[in-house]
Amino acid sequence: MRILLTNDDGIHAPGLVALGQALAPLGDVVTLAPERPRSAMGHAVTLHKPLRIWPVKLPHGGRAFATNGTPADCVALGTSEYVGQRPSLVVSGINLGPNLGVDMFYSGTVAAAMEAAISGLPAFAISIASYESADFEPAAQFARYLAEVVEARSLPKGTFLNVNVPPLSAAEMAGVAVTRQGRITYSNRIERRTDPRGMAYYWLTGDRVDEDDGADSDAAAVREGKISVTPVRIDLTDEDLLRTLATWSLRWPV
Ligand code: MN
Repeated sequence: MRILLTNDDGIHAPGLVALGQALAPLGDVVTLAPERPRSAMGHAVTLHKPLRIWPVKLPHGGRAFATNGTPADCVALGTSEYVGQRPSLVVSGINLGPNLGVDMFYSGTVAAAMEAAISGLPAFAISIASYESADFEPAAQFARYLAEVVEARSLPKGTFLNVNVPPLSAAEMAGVAVTRQGRITYSNRIERRTDPRGMAYYWLTGDRVDEDDGADSDAAAVREGKISVTPVRIDLTDEDLLRTLATWSLRWPV
């Protein structure tokens, strides 16, 4: 197996190293990750400045590189001949913090897996559903298992898996659930503050809100102590609304 490993927490993140160590026995692991934390930048790509790549040494060995690029850049660069052979699997993580519900639109971790799916490569993103410094080992071991399953079963083109692991020991976990993207969202997003000179500034923040959530959602699984595995596709078309729009008789000019 040729695995490209990346993340959005940066090349020095402990979650990346734990994942690299777990995946190394599966074959040739090439690591290419941002030089510094780049969380919550979504699918940003770098089009207007030079991208640099330089070799680094990581505990899990294999060829490893840092870059000034974004997580999505890492996948574009990492699937090029400059870094190595085209990988057979792209793995992004282990992110420190959940990527549930709408988090997927902001997450650099998820964007890297999505970029792989756009490039026609099987991929999964994996996150620990906690912001506390965590034991990455249970998630890393699950990632190794999942990499083997994905290799054996193969994913459809244009899809990837988004995995969230509860912050529990392997013994405390309640198994794996195949889930849909739930409706975790945010309220009270903008906080107005005052700087020492009396000028207003704003901080994007927000309280997580779990709207709806049937028992089959990503967040519900994590709440029950299960590893959540959500299949995601890059085609965002709303099929129901597509059919409804067809009945609107949209026309132009009117
Ligand atoms: Mn992150």
